[in-house]
Amino acid sequence: AKAEGKDRHQVFDPRMRREQAGRIRMVERLREGLEADEFTVHYQPIVTLRGGRSVAFEALVRWTPPGQDPIGPDRFIPAAEDSGLIVCLGEWVLRRACADAAPWFHTYGTTITVNVSPRQLAEHDFADKVRRALDDSGLPGAALTLEITEGVLVRSGAHAELTLAHLTELRSAGVRVAIDDFGTGYSSLAYLRDLPIDFLKIDKSFMPDDPTDAQQGALVRAVVDLARSLRLVTVAEGVETAHHAELLRTLGCDRGQGWLFGRPGTAAAASLRLVSEATV
Ligand code: C2E
Ligand code: CA
Ligand code: CA
Ligand code: CA
Repeated sequence: AKAEGKDRHQVFDPRMRREQAGRIRMVERLREGLEADEFTVHYQPIVTLRGGRSVAFEALVRWTPPGQDPIGPDRFIPAAEDSGLIVCLGEWVLRRACADAAPWFHTYGTTITVNVSPRQLAEHDFADKVRRALDDSGLPGAALTLEITEGVLVRSGAHAELTLAHLTELRSAGVRVAIDDFGTGYSSLAYLRDLPIDFLKIDKSFMPDDPTDAQQGALVRAVVDLARSLRLVTVAEGVETAHHAELLRTLGCDRGQGWLFGRPGTAAAASLRLVSEATV
């Protein structure tokens, strides 16, 4: 239905036509950026809510065209997905992240989590690529978690079957799977229970912006309870305040990620963080 709407507007709506032209330019720039090595990967700690240790880092891609400020992924991932460039970019991020994370895992047992888009999972050789990235960096499967969104698995059809096959194969090699942005998608509980999943990442939109708002508190409780009832490790995103962390601890959430614990930073910054955690 979405594609149909696009086609219709392409003909009649000048605003949509401009947007389309902008997208095409963006895809051209992305392609050039990939050629010219303009991408980097930043890392954000995921900490245990009891203990505060960095048990994992999430890899988040950044694009820095020469002479410009870094562009956040929200601005180019959609174009990368539409154009299929995400397959190439995603593989690059995966390989970069595995290489950066190898010493962290070998020294501290810290794992790495990488976002994977549906387009990547629909490729026949996705599992092979992941295994190659692990082999080339000297990491075991257990060092890696793949983050996917709920819709990817709940949708039916050939793509969902291929996705499921990839994830099942990788999981038997020790790779773990996280559902990203939990609570914003389909939330078919019976479904989730039967899928090859290890972590649920509770979307940051559930973090209350007002600590005195009982309704917001009830909502975050409901979603944490839901996640825990599936007997999966729960990770809260968007933990910005001490109040958030305290609330999540009370609710029995396992891990947290957010500005309170650390913003995304370079690989060097992540290494320093691990060193300083180990020496306290
Ligand atoms: P995400 O996977 O949900 O990643 C978490 C986003 O929340 C990141 O934004 C992170 O910087 C931001 N964040 C972290 N802590 C806080 C906090 O306390 N408060 C708030 N408000 N935000 C916080 P970022 O890096 O801009 O990435 C945006 C999205 O782009 C990601 O959302 C993910 O969906 C996508 N993305 C990033 N890197 C990749 C990638 O390598 N591949 C793919 N396919 N998607 C990626
Ligand atoms: Ca993510
Ligand atoms: Ca998320
Ligand atoms: Ca997201």
